[in-house]
Amino acid sequence: MSIILKTENLKAFYILKYLGEERVIKAVNGINLEIPENEIYGIAGESGCGKSTLLKVLLATLDPPLKHIDGSLYYNFDNNFIDVLRSPKEELKKFRWKFISYIPQGSMHVLNPVKKVKDTFLEFLESHVKEKDKKDYLELSIEHLRELGLSPETLEAYPHQLSGGMRQRVVIALSTLLHPQIILADEPTTALDVVAQRAVIQLLKRIQNTLQNTIIIVTHDMGIHAQITTKMAIMYAGKIVESASTKEIFKNPLHPYTKYLIQSLPHIGDKEPREGIQGSPPSLISLPPGCAFHPRCPYAQPICKSEEPTLKEVSSEHKVACFIAS
Ligand code: SF4
Ligand code: MG
Repeated sequence: MSIILKTENLKAFYILKYLGEERVIKAVNGINLEIPENEIYGIAGESGCGKSTLLKVLLATLDPPLKHIDGSLYYNFDNNFIDVLRSPKEELKKFRWKFISYIPQGSMHVLNPVKKVKDTFLEFLESHVKEKDKKDYLELSIEHLRELGLSPETLEAYPHQLSGGMRQRVVIALSTLLHPQIILADEPTTALDVVAQRAVIQLLKRIQNTLQNTIIIVTHDMGIHAQITTKMAIMYAGKIVESASTKEIFKNPLHPYTKYLIQSLPHIGDKEPREGIQGSPPSLISLPPGCAFHPRCPYAQPICKSEEPTLKEVSSEHKVACFIAS
């Protein structure tokens, strides 16, 4: 198993000035991840736990007020681990879209409403492909859309003429056009109806299977993780609290937060919605001391209020950050 991307104690905070005071939002707060190649890797957790920010950092797009504070991000590029956040910005351009690409959340808004889909593709090719390769790539675009179940006529449409599901597929087509080795997808099925969701999941699976690449998918929806991911991590308050194969997470969840997330999944035959997790995630500006989950945790011990559990391997490839889990 080869690692395509890894992070070591990665920290990136939003530094905001508010009424003359500095506010620090600890969105990515010491992340250790090892993402193997040829997998669909899921990152789960409620809204506001830092998932989307983590993806931005993994893409190395840290624009103020988001700031790299500590730790490292490495891409395995041609069997060399590149220390991405310490590489010159210019150098990073060569990775974007070709090595690592991004499907942003709410892709509906990504397509320019006054431009035909074709022009968006052309513009993209203008800026990312060398002149001599352009013609081939336009043909490739048509071929690629066809493979993804979109007719070449889609290129002639304006975004508003397409359904939400179609637009999402167009954005996926765009971000996979240059056959990246890593695709980051932020809530790619949110805001779609069930049928369109299923189509997007099938599409991502097919792309992964064809390219034999790695897709890192962020969603709060554990049902989507169960359907598409092969390995996953659970994020809470800017940290990874558990990671394992998806099968293992669902069969043998160890962290109390993971158990809650799984328990709150709806089941066929439910007459009423399942109870969600009590309380809400802490503000990333003022985290509780010790284990950030302790105010919501039914198993909290005195130690949990003062000391922070670290992510430890409890069995092969199953890691958890909790004092009582083993
Ligand atoms: Fe709960 Fe303590 Fe485990 Fe945190 S470390 S999840 S508070 S038992
Ligand atoms: Mg988000």
